[in-house]
Amino acid sequence: MDEGVEVPWRVTDLKQYVYCARILYYYTCLPRVRPTTYKMEASLEAHAAAEDLEQRRSLRSYGLKGGERHFSVSLASERLGMRGQVDMVIETESGGQRELIPVDYKLSDKVAEHFQLQLTAYAVMLEDTWGEAVRRGFLYLIPLRQAREVRITSRLRSALDEALAAMNAMLLREEMPPPTRHRAKCVACEFRRFCNDVV
Ligand code: SF4
Repeated sequence: MDEGVEVPWRVTDLKQYVYCARILYYYTCLPRVRPTTYKMEASLEAHAAAEDLEQRRSLRSYGLKGGERHFSVSLASERLGMRGQVDMVIETESGGQRELIPVDYKLSDKVAEHFQLQLTAYAVMLEDTWGEAVRRGFLYLIPLRQAREVRITSRLRSALDEALAAMNAMLLREEMPPPTRHRAKCVACEFRRFCNDVV
């Protein structure tokens, strides 16, 4: 897409949307309240360390014999209305054809659903900008030092479309979504002081 084209969403917004849509509302409609938490800073440091290790690691961790690694690849799609920076793209060959594989480092020991959604967003943006179908990606779980393959299925693609449709509707109406049904999340939430309807 052209540089300078504004897109409303970052890939990390998907994580907030899945966790609690109201948090994304606060981020979007009250941008001055966006805090930098310890967790975010720790994640940035862990990503930098993981990239440093990655430079010395063999592609065998991904079950690949060879390929070229591109680090911190910026992607954007006007069609999706989304932008983001994926930690790594592996460019390799499979059956005589070029294959692009996004890799997202995670400070987690689980392949959570919202991680798969974020990876799918990177995959679709790669398709839109690099012009190649993306069939799979990897989540690299930093604490376990393990890469887990994620197939970019039609189910994940539909889930991405549905999340983006709901996020766009929220942005258009500027309506505060209901609180999360999982009230345990509210206990340590940094936005709790803005939510007067949760205990
Ligand atoms: S306090 Fe609860 S409902 Fe409010 S933003 Fe935080 S997690 Fe969501």
